[in-house]
Amino acid sequence: MQNYVSPSALQEQLNEIAFLTNNPIRNASDEIFRKVAEQKHITDSQLASLYHLYPGIFEKALDLADTNTVTKFVSGAKVLFQVTGSAGFPYICFEDYCSCPAFANSSIMHSDLLYCKHQLAVAVVQALNSATPIQVTEEQFTQLACVDRNRKVVAAMTPNKGFR
Ligand SMILES: [Zn+2]
Repeated sequence: MQNYVSPSALQEQLNEIAFLTNNPIRNASDEIFRKVAEQKHITDSQLASLYHLYPGIFEKALDLADTNTVTKFVSGAKVLFQVTGSAGFPYICFEDYCSCPAFANSSIMHSDLLYCKHQLAVAVVQALNSATPIQVTEEQFTQLACVDRNRKVVAAMTPNKGFR
């Protein structure tokens, strides 16, 4: 019975997933990034749309993408990104996850910000294919993901450290 999930709990989880995948802002920006990847460049109107979708956030994301702060690590089929923020603090980004406090506070707790600036920076870099992948071993890959997770626990225990 340990792994039993009640139908109502399951429905709740499905609703949450549906909300995430059906969010119109996220869908709109995903569509823009898909087109950018096709065109291999970003147009002024696409930039304007992204500024509009993520006011105050996309500008910072573009800065991060422009200043080579996004590093792509690859191990087999697995990919993770390390994004060094403006304070020099590196965060780990997967497609649907970022280790930064903004993602934890807004995306998970309130669902009002589906991409943080680090994820948007990754989306720009991915769409423009501008990051040179660094090949790592399976072990190094796991270490990269876990080291960050451990640090996040420490950051969560000591508020005012690593929050900005
Ligand atoms: Zn983030």
